Amino acid sequence: MKVIIIGAVAAGTSAAAQIMRNDKEADVVIYEKDRDISYSACGFPYHIGGKVGFSDVVPRTPASFSEKYGVQVHSGHEVTKIDPAAKKVFGQTDEGNAFEDDYDELIMATGAQSMLPDLPGSDDARVFTLRTAEDTRAIMEYMEEKQPQNAVIVGTGFIGLEVLENLLERKIHVTVLNRSDKITPHLDADMAKHLEDLLRTRGVDLRKNTEIKAITKTAADTGEEQIPADLILFATGVRPNTKIAEEAGVALGDTGGIVVDDALRTNVAHIYACGDCTQLWSQLDKEPMYVPLGTSANKTGKIAGDVLTGGSMRFQGILGTSIFRLFDLTIGATGYTEKKAKDLGYDTEIICQKSLHRAGYFSGEPMEIKAVVDKKSRTLLGVQLIGTKGVDKRLDVLVTAIKNKMDGDALYNLDLSYAPPYNAVHDPVHYIGLKMRGLSS
Ligand code: FAD
Repeated sequence: MKVIIIGAVAAGTSAAAQIMRNDKEADVVIYEKDRDISYSACGFPYHIGGKVGFSDVVPRTPASFSEKYGVQVHSGHEVTKIDPAAKKVFGQTDEGNAFEDDYDELIMATGAQSMLPDLPGSDDARVFTLRTAEDTRAIMEYMEEKQPQNAVIVGTGFIGLEVLENLLERKIHVTVLNRSDKITPHLDADMAKHLEDLLRTRGVDLRKNTEIKAITKTAADTGEEQIPADLILFATGVRPNTKIAEEAGVALGDTGGIVVDDALRTNVAHIYACGDCTQLWSQLDKEPMYVPLGTSANKTGKIAGDVLTGGSMRFQGILGTSIFRLFDLTIGATGYTEKKAKDLGYDTEIICQKSLHRAGYFSGEPMEIKAVVDKKSRTLLGVQLIGTKGVDKRLDVLVTAIKNKMDGDALYNLDLSYAPPYNAVHDPVHYIGLKMRGLSS
């Protein structure tokens, strides 16, 4: 069996590795248009902050990956066309040479690309996005050479805020622009307010309801103000790379991602898709979701590789679980926000739980959990958590509860661990369970 994989970051390399684990005789060829492969984009903000080295986040080369897994990796090779009837791909190398190749099975792992608005000056050398290893190199080289003093970050999603923290550590003054009145798109307004307060307490120059209209030689022009800027980062979201798939007749969903089933099959025979180029679905109700994260990219890649080699793994959807750090706060979220649940027509009840992360006499620190409960089934639709310590643990317990559609009784009856350095006898998760039963904590 010959498998061609297009794209060699999280999803593509996970698929290749799984195919080779299951079938040492498989013939796997990966085409990647950039020069870097199999990197951890999640670590890029921390490399920008000087906390981790480039080789920590880009640990493999095409040669080292080929050698380890016995696959062919062609970097600098962009696939420009797929012919599903002939089972062929066509493309062009960085040097401008045409290539073509045949497949038995094809995996689209083409990921996503940053959105950069088309504004006057957006092609200026001071303007960046952060998605690829090449983007990271460019930012680092620019910072080394120009020593910027004033940065503007556009967008308050987790990438913008992670970069903010890391630029501040480099003693660069940062102004953060947010188009609307509410920051951080994946949180409800009441939870996002905590982040806003934190940013202001830390002296971050946050401008809400503000958009860049143009980039001049020295500033970000908002129409009302010229904000001095010698580095501008657009962290305004991504869009899935689907052009060649769509041209080959592969169906896209309403979110713009490639539609796949639980075996990562597309509607076109012998074409699979995984990672950030795909539309996935909610574990709550099968609602289509586009939440491009490394967690699902690695998982869907691995499952596609398993399916292709006759394995029985199947993908079961997502909750869109995310976690990030902002200064000393950890912010976690999974499932639907209150707003999203309402937009989808759920009748919701909101539970707010303020607890300490462990025993008060053991320096417990405050944590706030907002839980969105479906009144009809009395199960959780989503949670958002903010605190300095212990957020990751509660988030992941609640993810498990949501996936398994646990009600308040089931949550309260979780036999969670307790000793004073870790917890209180009743965990915050237990209090959510009690409140879901209509009892006070
Ligand atoms: P991509 O990483 O987009 O890779 C797709 C590859 O396909 C690219 O290299 C592209 O060049 C190649 N390609 C596209 N079209 C073609 C073509 N026609 N021919 C050849 N090659 C092609 N996720 C988390 O879960 N947790 C985090 O903390 C987190 N932090 C992040 C921080 C940052 C700064 C960034 C940028 C992302 C972060 N993510 C995080 C998201 C995570 O990195 C992505 O979800 C993941 O990289 C997606 O992997 P992918 O392989 O699907 O797509």
